[in-house]
Amino acid sequence: MQPSLFQPEENLNATSAAFAEIVFDRPLDHAYTYAIPPSLLAQIAIGKRVLAPFGKGDKQTIGFCVGLTETKPERKVKAILQVLDDDALLTEHLLKLTRWMADYYLCGWGQVLNAVVPAGAKSRAGTKAVPILELVPDALVPTPPPHLSPKQKKVLEYLKARSGSIELRELKHATGSGSMPIEALVEKGYARRYSGRVENATAVSQTVRDDADIPHAEREEYILTADQAAAWNQLEPALKEGGFKPFLLYGITGSGKTELYLRAIEEVVRQGKEALVLVPEISLTPQTIAAFKGRCQDVAILHSHLHTAERGSHWRRIARGQVQVIVGARSAVFAPTKKLGLIVIDEEHESSFKQEKTPRYHGRDVAVMRARLENIPIILGSATPALESWYNAQRGQYTLLTLPRRVADRPLPPVKLIDLRHDRHPDKKQHGLSPTLERAMKKALDAGGQVILLLNRRGFSTYLHCPACGHVEHCKFCDLSMTYHKDRHVTMCHYCGFEQKPPEKCPVCGTGQVLYQGMGTEKLHAEIMQVFPDRTVERMDSDTMKRPGSHQKVLDAFRRGQIQILLGTQMIAKGLDFPNVTVVGVVNADVGLHHADFRASERTFQLLAQVAGRTGRGAQVGNVYIQTLQPEHPSIALAANHDYLTFAHEEMKARQAHKYPPFQRMARLIVRCKDEKAGNEYADRLAEAFNAVLQKRKAAGEPVDLRLLGPAEAPVFRLKGYYRFHFQLQSASSATLHQVLRATLPTVRVPNGVELTVDIDPQDML
Ligand code: ADP
Ligand code: ZN
Repeated sequence: MQPSLFQPEENLNATSAAFAEIVFDRPLDHAYTYAIPPSLLAQIAIGKRVLAPFGKGDKQTIGFCVGLTETKPERKVKAILQVLDDDALLTEHLLKLTRWMADYYLCGWGQVLNAVVPAGAKSRAGTKAVPILELVPDALVPTPPPHLSPKQKKVLEYLKARSGSIELRELKHATGSGSMPIEALVEKGYARRYSGRVENATAVSQTVRDDADIPHAEREEYILTADQAAAWNQLEPALKEGGFKPFLLYGITGSGKTELYLRAIEEVVRQGKEALVLVPEISLTPQTIAAFKGRCQDVAILHSHLHTAERGSHWRRIARGQVQVIVGARSAVFAPTKKLGLIVIDEEHESSFKQEKTPRYHGRDVAVMRARLENIPIILGSATPALESWYNAQRGQYTLLTLPRRVADRPLPPVKLIDLRHDRHPDKKQHGLSPTLERAMKKALDAGGQVILLLNRRGFSTYLHCPACGHVEHCKFCDLSMTYHKDRHVTMCHYCGFEQKPPEKCPVCGTGQVLYQGMGTEKLHAEIMQVFPDRTVERMDSDTMKRPGSHQKVLDAFRRGQIQILLGTQMIAKGLDFPNVTVVGVVNADVGLHHADFRASERTFQLLAQVAGRTGRGAQVGNVYIQTLQPEHPSIALAANHDYLTFAHEEMKARQAHKYPPFQRMARLIVRCKDEKAGNEYADRLAEAFNAVLQKRKAAGEPVDLRLLGPAEAPVFRLKGYYRFHFQLQSASSATLHQVLRATLPTVRVPNGVELTVDIDPQDML
């Protein structure tokens, strides 16, 4: 065990400040000043949590210390009761970053802090308190030196030879000594004993075992392609010089973006710094992990299946500078590195980087802000960049690096659009696979190839419909249709999880025989087993992949060729690289195209383009088939042509015309209430308050370039039993948007039973 792993319980940076600024886990709140009792002066520090009396009845409440001051406040203040952490939980940069988040996302700083520090770091889960022994400096040993017995001498000798501190248990073991001689050394003033924390061996070994399962990819270093070399020529000096510099790496699928990430990481590691890599949760596959492990020494992988203790242990290892490279999903952006030299975000367009609960931050945007605060380069990579990032590159905020070709001149796969209006089976029944796709699959399978099919809807039938009266079964709590799951014979709401037995007869007219319509992955699975009875088919969606690790099992079996047809939701579209896949089919490209969301076209394009890039990476040529009712829709036609540039160009024009992001900033307010009337009334009052603020600004000559839409019923008006009203605010100026929200929100008290959500740069428009 390394002596450096010990963390003495004492704090050496005692402060002389008499007052502390504390923030609590509450919305839109300021810091409170507390007195620091003399007994806590040695322990308190910025970034530690404290226990303090707060609110009604002085309830003991946990808060974060965010500032220390000697200035006596004007009002009488209460005193802190206890300091909860041995070490500061956050670095100075992270404190600044979280402060910015609170301001930008309009929530409490304490809320942000509480959310970004993992439970395992707060509870010290994964560590245990143990007695530790340390020699006192020679100068402090009493004179004349007290006499020692031979046994005591032996222990002293050992301690001197080893230097540093040692866990008591280990000392006993190493010297074969009992407790008595060691205690004597302490009593006679040769050694000091204190309580310290060490990593709990069982928790840590668990982590190591998890990661050890994953083989390290072979260390391959390529000669860069001409495109990669051109990009590297821009990256290298930025990495060498340091300083905030954002890059957008737009490289088509298979163009070798990962190789550039790895080189960039190697460069900063060589400089003795750390690198942070953010990927969508779904891309945290062993493939990705192996690529990083093959090239970097100390890698921490932060995925969502980590136990509290593992997470805490990673957090502490990172904070102690024992990790060079951190790879993780969204929340890894808060890794407490002290010498960060680079941030990489792969698949930067992914909407999963947005957190859909408070603090509603976008991991990509927070990462860019962190890079700015830490003054380091950041690389955003994607084959289909988000239009926000594209816009930033167009106007020179980001440096654009382009990899327009695949490595080794491999062609992009040919994509065939299948028009479902014409390509139909003669029996007129509902089929998931058109005759053309069926034939292509058969040919590929007969030749020993594999097939991937995407259908972005789970369940068996996606709606239940009565042909007699037209009734469609809806959720009791949501304005959404129920999906039929055949394996459990229930209908289910995919938003709130409500389940019930499917009706025998139509519950409205009582006569009609309910039809099970629409196709989900479960029905497709059944159809494929019928059409290809001799092949192994596996389905991958959140119903079949509930257990951690099951995802991986299926992918491994697929890679080994034990599965010939893999079908699933968008889960299968990301970051997978299977050389033997020669047919990729999109069963219904139109799912999602008609969502009431200004990003519906962009999302559809991204998904299709990503899927289309999933084949032809190996030596074999693959074919992609996209089934659709609208082959002429630009999102579909351009994705089939692998034409991001035209898509981005056209979509930007549409966004500009409608004053949508990225040309304007947007905020969305959602009012939620079980009582429709109460929700409505509050929304109306909020609207009045907005208008009052806008009037006042106008009168004061302040900018009012803001468009306020609403209140209106949200596209999904009833969700989980709540009625929902929403506002949309759009402005070319982020400052105006924030000022108006800040001036308005505190003026209308949110009544009991009503909830207000403020979503800045919203991704979810339902
Ligand atoms: P992307 O991330 O852009 O989709 P990858 O980084 O996965 O593309 O690269 C595609 C394939 O090409 C990978 O198998 C990778 O190992 C390989 N590769 C990358 N760069 C080179 C190179 N310069 N020479 C040869 N092969 C390369
Ligand atoms: Zn529901």
